[in-house]
Amino acid sequence: MAKKKENCIFCKIANGEISSNILYEDEDIIAFLDASPTTKGHALVVTKEHFDNVLYVPKDLIGKAFSVAQKIGQAEVSLFDAKGVNILTNAGEAAGQTVMHFHIHVIPRYDPNDGLQIGFTPKMIEKFDLPVLVNEIKKRI
Ligand code: AMP
Ligand code: ZN
Repeated sequence: MAKKKENCIFCKIANGEISSNILYEDEDIIAFLDASPTTKGHALVVTKEHFDNVLYVPKDLIGKAFSVAQKIGQAEVSLFDAKGVNILTNAGEAAGQTVMHFHIHVIPRYDPNDGLQIGFTPKMIEKFDLPVLVNEIKKRI
């Protein structure tokens, strides 16, 4: 039986305690439509077991979850003739996570101005010693 967290809305959806528009379900994963969709077809892929965010999900489950997200993305792009899809996950409040149970967003895109704004504006003014930075990161992977 997957571990749940008290008062977690996605644990409740995974349990069937709260209803959702389910697109896919197996023993480990559930996917359903987002209640406040950014675009038509905006879906969430969730592990049934509670993990706070992507950083804590075991390797086999992360693979399963992204595989389901890919399938939903493929299905929706062809069904809705979408022009693209964003498949993303937010980890931590600073990254925009509001529900602290791991989930992947699948957001079909119809137009660059259809609601989702992702900007990669370079804002880093601090200069890093890049070889040192690369080495530090590599050592921890
Ligand atoms: P995030 O900001 O990445 O944590 O995304 C959380 C998402 O969960 C938002 O897009 C919400 O609209 C969605 N959400 C919150 N509660 C529900 C719910 N009961 N059913 C479906 N989606 C939900
Ligand atoms: Zn949970």
